[in-house]
Amino acid sequence: MVVIGTGLAGARVAQRLGAGTVLIGEENHAPYNRVLLAEVLAGRYGPDVIALPSPAGTVLRTRAVRIDRAERQVQCADGGVVPYGTLVLATGSNPVLPPLRGLFAPGARELPGGVHAFRTMDDCLALSAAVAPGVRVVVIGGGLLGVSAARALAVRGAQVVLTQQAERLMERQLDPASSELVRRHLTDLGVEVHTECRVRGVGVTDGAVRRVELADGYLLDTDVTVLACGVRPRTGLAQAAGLDVRRGVVVDDLLRTSDPHIRAVGDCAEHAGRVYGLATPAVEQADTLAAALGHTPGGEAAPRPYTGTRTLTRLT
Ligand SMILES: Cc1cc2nc3c(=O)[nH]c(=O)nc-3n(C[C@H](O)[C@H](O)[C@H](O)COP(=O)(O)OP(=O)(O)OC[C@H]3O[C@@H](n4cnc5c(N)ncnc54)[C@H](O)[C@@H]3O)c2cc1C
Repeated sequence: MVVIGTGLAGARVAQRLGAGTVLIGEENHAPYNRVLLAEVLAGRYGPDVIALPSPAGTVLRTRAVRIDRAERQVQCADGGVVPYGTLVLATGSNPVLPPLRGLFAPGARELPGGVHAFRTMDDCLALSAAVAPGVRVVVIGGGLLGVSAARALAVRGAQVVLTQQAERLMERQLDPASSELVRRHLTDLGVEVHTECRVRGVGVTDGAVRRVELADGYLLDTDVTVLACGVRPRTGLAQAAGLDVRRGVVVDDLLRTSDPHIRAVGDCAEHAGRVYGLATPAVEQADTLAAALGHTPGGEAAPRPYTGTRTLTRLT
């Protein structure tokens, strides 16, 4: 059994499946609970506190670069080749980089200085190093990620402006009254919140973003800019291997992909036309998969199919 991805879903599957599992993860950190990154950024927890229970199997710290379905093996960036009987894709999501004028110089693939995504522990540590009391921060995006980042940075004493294109904060998760409570909480922390506010571009000076340009022409000076414009399922490996991929890797109720030897769980999976991008479905899918593969905590005989997640709660 080989699992690609050491996030919430991959680590959970490996923990349930136990010794004998090989877990391939590209991040240079022990598996951790991504949901709690904002608490690390806020300085409330050290990175070690959010570590996940160690999976019983072998963890390979490298990136899977190709799936050879005919030979049933995974090729890794370090040159290693890992054979599988069953392969589990738990590759998560990538941050969406918005098409802002000036963000990428012609032909450049790297972000300019002063701009950060907020997805990984490395992103969190880099942001944490850049922030100090009085530093001017613009957070682009007022969804779950943008709100979490703005709150954490304000707690650290930064002067935070949060720009949200929609008419209210976290509009996908919250009703208007709850959105208003979140807005008030942020404002009380000193965050300047702008809704119905579209960012058009950024201004780069000496290789670093120093201005954020709004669609109405207004300019915000900035030292640190956070991109929190949503996530996209990470499906490149699956697509290159010829699996059925729409928005995510398409799976059935037992998390089977279009290849009988490959399963997919978590943010990268699309179940019943839905990609969740949230922690509870990732964990529930991992548990369903482990049960389907014959490893249930209570030793139940027949696996219960995954029928979707209805209650979306924060795992803290
Ligand atoms: C700051 C932040 C706050 C959040 N807060 C909440 C919240 O409050 N509530 C909530 O429900 N959700 C929240 N989320 C979303 C939640 O974290 C995700 O839904 C969850 O982590 C999905 O788990 P996953 O295992 O599918 O993907 P991930 O946690 O993204 O893990 C995927 C892992 O796979 C690795 N990987 C990918 N491709 C390869 C490859 N080719 N080779 C090797 N490794 C690879 C990645 O590096 C990554 O480590 C938050 C996310 C962030 C970033």
